[in-house]
Amino acid sequence: RQAAYAALRDVVPISQDGKRITVMINAGLRDDVANLALTGADGIGLFRTEFQFLVSATLPARERQTRLYREVMESAGNKPVMFRTVDIGGDKTLPYLRHDDGEGEENPAMGWRALRVALERDGLLKVQARALIEAAAGRTLNVMFPMVSEPWEFEAARKVFEGQLEFLRSRRKRVAESIRYGVMLEVPALAEQLDLIAPRIQFLSIGTNDLTQFLFAADRANPKLAERYDWLSPAILRYLRRVVRSLDGYNVDTTVCGEMGGRQLEALALIGVGIERLSITPASVGPLKAMIGQCNVGEIRAAMEGWLANPPKNLRQVLTDWAQERGI
Ligand code: PEP
Ligand code: MG
Repeated sequence: RQAAYAALRDVVPISQDGKRITVMINAGLRDDVANLALTGADGIGLFRTEFQFLVSATLPARERQTRLYREVMESAGNKPVMFRTVDIGGDKTLPYLRHDDGEGEENPAMGWRALRVALERDGLLKVQARALIEAAAGRTLNVMFPMVSEPWEFEAARKVFEGQLEFLRSRRKRVAESIRYGVMLEVPALAEQLDLIAPRIQFLSIGTNDLTQFLFAADRANPKLAERYDWLSPAILRYLRRVVRSLDGYNVDTTVCGEMGGRQLEALALIGVGIERLSITPASVGPLKAMIGQCNVGEIRAAMEGWLANPPKNLRQVLTDWAQERGI
């Protein structure tokens, strides 16, 4: 099977009815980039920059960050890389970056983490912005911010990047040719404000790992809750369909980059609610390309409309049967 998927490396993910689905990979380390060539994926839809921070004993110096980002973009060649600014804090604590009061948090997942930390310790974000902008010299930089809940948080982060860009230009440094900005949709509140932010961003990345844990108030790291909800629940799929629809008419690339997108049946359901871009774990690229080649996008969308209007008791079973009947 593995060999069969490897053979799919050069296959372009196009559905039976001619829809091109973008399939990218998630990455976090320099060596992960090799998976681009191995899988034939369309790019890196999520580069988790905090990995470098997590494996380091001290705050990675700007030069080290620049080197990593540059190497990643160079090895990705013409394929885009969406860099996510650090998502640390919460449960991913770093000895060299602590909350002022030094207290542990009761709910780290919804605590002092990600962009919330970066905006408060804006030295951290400035250094990262400068490293990314310099690393992208002569290229387009794609940068996105994690755990955005309100449009102002995005504006504040963007301002840090624009400020660094101006500073570097004034110093006659080589900088990114252009910057494309994105936000992650992980906090449900942001979905209610997409029309406010859509004209300001070029892409949206839906982090279904965090998003679904917050939608269902069910800790993603608690094994006791693993069966608490299904990614194929009408609540999640209706929610995502609404997100896709509310971005209709805006020029915003919308990608799902949570683990959900790497599973065949879930990916089929995502396509059914209008998602056309997925960023997944590299091992899932082959299986997903195979699935997409077998699926008819128009048909799954129509079927999904019916199921979400009048949800069957077990959507997973219904979708499994539906896919099986069609040889997907
Ligand atoms: C997510 O929350 O779905 C996501 C992609 O980010 P992470 O898994 O790194 O929290
Ligand atoms: Mg997340």
